[in-house]
Amino acid sequence: MTFRFELLQGSATGPRLGRLHTPHGSVSTPAFMPVATRGMLRGILPDRMRPMGVEMMLSNAFHLYARPGVEIVRELGGVHGMLAWDGPVLTDSGGFQVFSLGALGKVREDGVQVEHPVYGGMVDWTPQLAFETQAGLAADVAMVLDVCPDQPTDAAVCQAAVERTLAWARIQRDLHDQRGAAACGQAQFGIVQGGVHAELREQCAKALVEMQFDGYAIGGVSVGEGHQAMMDGVEHSAGHLPADQVRYLMGVGTPLDLIEGVARGVDLFDCVFPTRAGRFATALTDHGRLHLLNARFKSDRSPLDPECPCSACLSGVPRGALRAGFKAKELLPPILVSIHNLHYIVGLMARIRDALAEGSFDPLRERIRSAYPPTLGL
Ligand SMILES: [Zn+2]
Repeated sequence: MTFRFELLQGSATGPRLGRLHTPHGSVSTPAFMPVATRGMLRGILPDRMRPMGVEMMLSNAFHLYARPGVEIVRELGGVHGMLAWDGPVLTDSGGFQVFSLGALGKVREDGVQVEHPVYGGMVDWTPQLAFETQAGLAADVAMVLDVCPDQPTDAAVCQAAVERTLAWARIQRDLHDQRGAAACGQAQFGIVQGGVHAELREQCAKALVEMQFDGYAIGGVSVGEGHQAMMDGVEHSAGHLPADQVRYLMGVGTPLDLIEGVARGVDLFDCVFPTRAGRFATALTDHGRLHLLNARFKSDRSPLDPECPCSACLSGVPRGALRAGFKAKELLPPILVSIHNLHYIVGLMARIRDALAEGSFDPLRERIRSAYPPTLGL
């Protein structure tokens, strides 16, 4: 099966229902992709993904390049073999990770210099290397390498980032054609940058659309700009992308950000948030976040979330025991709360799709907005 997106309901800027077809199967959208940054989910068995409703996963090209290396991943059966997952996989180019490692000052015309996260020394992470790495990993979707400044940043810095992002996108788009990547079953997404500046988002989106990518990501969000500015950035990008192609909002995954992203026309999401929150003893529920280290849970005999049918909530381990286990640094509590949180987020996406099909999206949106007000942190 070749890569194809079917828009089933909706338009360019409002909530949409779709179906993404890839060589490793189809994905109902809007969808959330769990993140296996280094080729593994933290603390969750791969065979739990399908029962949870996961249809697509994400891994990171830069981290897999650093360890175990592309050749080893190929020997393990590509990124699908590494993840022990036969469904669709998207690999991020590592742009966000490279810049979060403090590389913004070392961006050059031909790439970015970053410290090797395993062996030390410097790596020239270039558009060509990001492309070759992802071709070797053989994911269903490869992302272009982009320039991702922290926000809020002034317009001149953002303008320079957009120009470099577009120049690198052109290089990678040409490589994609020259190497026959599409015939090998790999799709390629461009990434819209431009920060909080509407005119830069528009300029970047339009230039990428002219290059004719298989899909488009909205990047440079969730980097310190706040919820409303993030959603403005989504609006300023989505309206300039083709309605009949898939859109992916990178690194976004709180319940509020997911449902507000859907409301603005986003089809795909990924984030470490559900599992990271789980490791920090925070459980996600329809009534908001539960901070399990809070003393009020000390002798609480109820399950993590009495409304949830996930294996962690059905395990019989009460909230009070989870709290004690977190305090004692036991292995099991972070795993159980990560399982629950991922189940909750993937289940929320299924509820969103059902609500869109039934015309009841707005009440669900209101419920999530009241349970997860934007002023709260983790
Ligand atoms: Zn649960």
